[in-house]
Amino acid sequence: MDKIKKQLEAEKKRILQEIKSINNSVSEASPDDNAEFFDDVDNLNQRIENLDIKDKLKLVLKDVESALSKIDKGSKGKYGICENCKKPIEKKRLETYPFAKYCTACMNKLENEE
Ligand SMILES: [Zn+2]
Repeated sequence: MDKIKKQLEAEKKRILQEIKSINNSVSEASPDDNAEFFDDVDNLNQRIENLDIKDKLKLVLKDVESALSKIDKGSKGKYGICENCKKPIEKKRLETYPFAKYCTACMNKLENEE
């Protein structure tokens, strides 16, 4: 379990770093806003893309934090349990996505429903 926790903490650090670097690049781009707003479509697209990535990163960060809190609480059997069907998530899946909330079957089902 410690190994997973370390992995999750590293992941959290990495995500926070990425959000930070996106914040930096967005604020660097803003001084051009007024002067070259219409000429700078590429820059604008880049910023929208960055904000999009940031939103996604924040969602992943939430998952990582909730996985971490499940481990921290020490509530046995909570971590690695699918939030949908309450069955254990496949070990292989947890190795790839330590912060997975659903097992592969539920994940596929939920994705198809969207
Ligand atoms: Zn499931």
